[in-house]
Amino acid sequence: MRLYGGDIFVDFCKISKTLISKKGNLKIEEVKRVLNQLHKQKIIDYKPKSNFEQITFIIPRANNNYFSLKSNDIKKRKNIEKLKQDFIINYLENEFRCRTQIILEYFDEIDYEKCKKCDNCKKNNLKKLDRNYKKEIIKCIKNQINNPNDIINTINIDNKNLIISNMRTLLSEEKIKIKNHMLFII
Ligand SMILES: [Zn+2]
Repeated sequence: MRLYGGDIFVDFCKISKTLISKKGNLKIEEVKRVLNQLHKQKIIDYKPKSNFEQITFIIPRANNNYFSLKSNDIKKRKNIEKLKQDFIINYLENEFRCRTQIILEYFDEIDYEKCKKCDNCKKNNLKKLDRNYKKEIIKCIKNQINNPNDIINTINIDNKNLIISNMRTLLSEEKIKIKNHMLFII
């Protein structure tokens, strides 16, 4: 094909089996066999002649539209890959959103309740509790319950450690102070 250029797609083209056999490093018989085979497969129209053989390609050469369509396909595929990548990054890096919701959103389901089971749901729920306990502690101190043990007993909760950690946080934030084992608001 490279020997005879684009004309070979349009019209019969004289070919030399000798030249083809030399270029392709094939025996003349082999070239003849391949040409006949291609003719049988209707890929070329092969007309043997005494000195010069003639062939033309029956299957049209792919035009540019075909290639641009292909590049569109590649673009589409790249976009899909990008969306998938963004989704994975969002899923991994998001520290606040419910992970089940993120996944369901990916499948276009947006009206879904938080799962309350994923790490983000648990963490955020804990944060909410944290805030509440801080408020509760401040409320107790304002009501003159200054002894930490009294505060712990006043706030009705199973996890006493959560109250203690909240007290520590309030102390470190300098929102409360401790004096003679009693807590006061600053
Ligand atoms: Zn969740």
